[in-house]
Amino acid sequence: MSNVVLKLPEESLLQIISHYGNKKTAAKAQYVRFTAKLPDTVVTVYNSGKVMFQGAGAEREANRWGKADSSAVKVSGAKGDSLPENFAKLSVLGSDETGTGDFFGPITVAACFVPADGVELAHELGVKDSKLLNDEYMRKIAPDLREAFAHSVLTLKNEKYNKVQAQGWSQGKIKALLHNQALKLVLAKIEPVKPDAILIDQFAERGIYYKHIKDEEEIVRENVLFSTKAEGLHVSVACASIIARVAFLEEMDRMSAEVGMTLPKGAGKIVDEVAAKIIVKHGEEYLKGLTKYHFANTKKAEVLARKRRN
Ligand code: MN
Repeated sequence: MSNVVLKLPEESLLQIISHYGNKKTAAKAQYVRFTAKLPDTVVTVYNSGKVMFQGAGAEREANRWGKADSSAVKVSGAKGDSLPENFAKLSVLGSDETGTGDFFGPITVAACFVPADGVELAHELGVKDSKLLNDEYMRKIAPDLREAFAHSVLTLKNEKYNKVQAQGWSQGKIKALLHNQALKLVLAKIEPVKPDAILIDQFAERGIYYKHIKDEEEIVRENVLFSTKAEGLHVSVACASIIARVAFLEEMDRMSAEVGMTLPKGAGKIVDEVAAKIIVKHGEEYLKGLTKYHFANTKKAEVLARKRRN
């Protein structure tokens, strides 16, 4: 599945609008001049003169009208869908996750809606590319972001993670389900407003993502775009990333207080050592509830714990 963007003269736009006239759907955003929904393709004509074809039939439909527009936006090195040139200024619902590589600490997914007229505000509140932000800074600005923008944040406790992991769920599936859920919750919150687009910070190709969530009752599909490095493409993804990160940190704080020691992030040597201490003090069953137990850290911590006991 793909997205194709064409920049076309007025004459062609009128032809397109007439050609897909009987498949027309209501255009919700001010930037959008016309939208039509075919069984396998969504056609969107923007006021800018660009036309986006999205879905399994995107290339087939786009080929009727012209050649793909090479000026479509991409962050250098980003993989995924091509986005319309003015994408950063659209109303976008973005999603991102954190905590996938951490032995302690939960997988946390957030979705955040930043409308066109909120893009400026997000920057004013201090949102930059999240890769440039540190935890302390994110803790400081997250409350304002949560206040300013419709969002949803889901924290998957490790107890639950271990349960579904043991059932054979991959991290990809877990993430896809959480992203779909978070997006759904925000769409419900902002109704009847609809975002111009939904942008998922890509962790799986579109086909794989949808395969993971195929059994869900409600699947968010309309206007969904995927790109890596998406936090640099729209501030909504950067906001989602910060909100997710801070929820993750807050859960780490809570767990640290409960255990009575500071639990480290990541999955490195320090993690093994703290895990070993926990085994010595509270036993393995207790460690299991706190961690992604299938990680290699478990075995390493067991070895360390045995040495300490001897
Ligand atoms: Mn991400």
